[in-house]
Amino acid sequence: MESSSAATVSAGPSPGPAPADLLRRLRARGAADPVTHVERVPARPGVPAPWPSWAPPELRAAFARRGVVAPWQHQAQAATLAYEGEHVVVATGTASGKSLAYQLPALATLLADPRATVLYLAPTKALAADQLRAVAALELEGVRPACYDGDTPRAEREWIRRHSRFVLTNPDMLHHGVLPGHAQWSGFLRRLAYVVIDECHTYRGVFGSHVAHVLRRLRRQCDRFGSTPVFVLASATSGDPSTAAGRLTGLPVTAVTEDASPRGGVTFALWEPPLLPPDSGPSTPVPPQSTGDHDDLQQVRRSALRETADLLADTVAEGVRTLAFVRSRKGAEVVAANARRALDDAVPGLGDRVAAYRGGYLREERRELERALLHGDLLGLASTNALELGVDLVGLDAVLICGYPGTRASLWQQAGRAGRSGQEALAVLVARDDPLDTYLVHHPEAIFGAPVEATVLDPANPYVLAPQLACAAFEAPLTPADLALFGDGAKEAVDQLVAAGALRQRPTGWYWRHRERPEVDLRGEGGAPVCVVESSTGRLLGTVDGGSSHFLLHSGAVYLHQGVSYVVDELDLVDGCALVHAEEPDWSTHARDVTDLSVVSVRSYVDAGPVGMFLGEVDVTSQVVSYQRRRIATGEVIDTRPLDLPARELRTVAVWFTLSPQSLTLAGVQPADVPGALHAAEHAAIGLLPLMATCDRWDIGGLSTAVHQDTEAPTVFVYDGHPGGAGFAERAYGTASAWLRATRDAIAECGCESGCPSCVQSPKCGNGNNPLSKPDAIRVLDVVLANLPE
Ligand SMILES: [Zn+2]
Ligand SMILES: [Zn+2]
Repeated sequence: MESSSAATVSAGPSPGPAPADLLRRLRARGAADPVTHVERVPARPGVPAPWPSWAPPELRAAFARRGVVAPWQHQAQAATLAYEGEHVVVATGTASGKSLAYQLPALATLLADPRATVLYLAPTKALAADQLRAVAALELEGVRPACYDGDTPRAEREWIRRHSRFVLTNPDMLHHGVLPGHAQWSGFLRRLAYVVIDECHTYRGVFGSHVAHVLRRLRRQCDRFGSTPVFVLASATSGDPSTAAGRLTGLPVTAVTEDASPRGGVTFALWEPPLLPPDSGPSTPVPPQSTGDHDDLQQVRRSALRETADLLADTVAEGVRTLAFVRSRKGAEVVAANARRALDDAVPGLGDRVAAYRGGYLREERRELERALLHGDLLGLASTNALELGVDLVGLDAVLICGYPGTRASLWQQAGRAGRSGQEALAVLVARDDPLDTYLVHHPEAIFGAPVEATVLDPANPYVLAPQLACAAFEAPLTPADLALFGDGAKEAVDQLVAAGALRQRPTGWYWRHRERPEVDLRGEGGAPVCVVESSTGRLLGTVDGGSSHFLLHSGAVYLHQGVSYVVDELDLVDGCALVHAEEPDWSTHARDVTDLSVVSVRSYVDAGPVGMFLGEVDVTSQVVSYQRRRIATGEVIDTRPLDLPARELRTVAVWFTLSPQSLTLAGVQPADVPGALHAAEHAAIGLLPLMATCDRWDIGGLSTAVHQDTEAPTVFVYDGHPGGAGFAERAYGTASAWLRATRDAIAECGCESGCPSCVQSPKCGNGNNPLSKPDAIRVLDVVLANLPE
């Protein structure tokens, strides 16, 4: 998040040990060395550039008053491209000053042309408010920047539409408010010079596909009013930002990726917790409901939480100001509690210098913790990424990251808290037992080299395209020329809307037939979300997307919400709500489902001898049929209870590969082991897909079978878990050999004997992780990789 203007608080100097010495002492603690790699990320001096000649003196003076004496090279380069009319995406690191890259051309244009306007889009209201403060602080004559979102009082809205020349909003407001009300915005849109899309990497998957069409609707309205704004996008570093920005906007976009901002030096260690002795079993239970991930699977590796807690205690004992990032709230509390206990055992009272920090605290509590850490009263803080949303806390001596946070952007955002000017800092990534984490700690080049993960979206998804075309038709009748704007599949979607009675075709185009606006939620996925309601109070705890509701909210399910445990009394499918009560039983629940998949069509394929690789449409039918209750401490199955839930159908996009039975036999896979081999390969492949595309393994489903009715061969399917697909399977197909190579390496490099959550077991398996064969999964993937062209 680019919050350069927010209150940034930096710790003062402290004479701690040098990072390399500190790391040496930390890794010397146990018998085996847990460090798989140490990367020294050197300090980098910034490369300043002169102000572009087109930047007016009063704008330079305004930036200078805010402490910006000169732009960095990447800022100047992106700004000049945009000023010259090129659509541009600047994709550089955290805190590299992407804001200046769009503020400079946008504000210069506003100053040069007293009628021009700028529209700025942020994924959250908080970021828009932050940017508003930054622009307002420049105190430029006649710009009148203003936020326009759901919180803007009605009385102010008309003033903003008429007088503001720099409107900050979000895609939801653009979709629900601005575009349907384009008549009221005609003055603003007619003069629109720039559209700024901040944090554009957050527009991914189905949500990203919706936003892509909202932007096409915006371009259509601009076109009607005679303006052709330049798009300037800001992105976290990611693979191929130009293509992603091009898909999002539908325009050719030039990428600026060379980061010229200064940064402090960091010693970055990759840390793999050791395997437990084989017989330790239940004597080292996972802390109850602490991991938030897969506390049910047999533990073979020391948990990342315990490892992080020990590291935190050790660094605090050395007097090192340390921040530990933990994925779940409960996990952050467990890490803080364990570190406190360890410190108190050593020196009574020392534990008081460690605390947990999470989003649920009141603002004042959070500020107090931040203050205490910066003044050194506190030395250690275990936090969820809630910190990312609060005050920028930088300048710490060490940062511990418990589990890969999902994307490189988040990883660097967290690691970036370490280090202050002129001093080296330490960052440690502690791997969780997850195939992706396993892969990363053994493949540092995937972290420190050029990023491969790309932001993917699929504007051609018919489940997104049709409702978006309905919105567009409501705003103004669709013409044949519009169909090209909305891209592949637009004509089919329009024909469907006509057949469904939503549009009427006339000689001049397609007209929306109803008075009311079509109801389309940009963030809604897989059916209406299910509300989670506490029965005794009627309090709405949150929502779960329809697609996951059968899995997570069936009656009897233990449901974790922000670290607090609830048990579901009833799932009401008609009203779309689940009634729950607070309860912390000593078991967890695990839904089982039966899944059936049929191939609808093949979009593309590679025929590689005994191996075939395919991309296409599939129908997935799945039914949650029962759930298991398992003891948290031991993983012991208490019982299996039946459920009576309807089957659900999903038409989506899948990638799949087939192998000939002969090739498997030749590779040494016995026929009886084929199901376990394919199943294990499927799990790991799903776990590694986030390496190639920004997605969560929960966005993806899989199915493997020794013989499939449509392929008539041993097959592994991996499909997008969203109706119509979200671009994940497509990306997997496009990067198949790199993706499956990483999958194969993650399995082979896991030190476990016969499969564990770090390699082939999956926390979301509908079959209870059975059957699985780790060595045969490697053989299967070797056959695929040997035949598949790079
Ligand atoms: Zn393993
Ligand atoms: Zn499975």
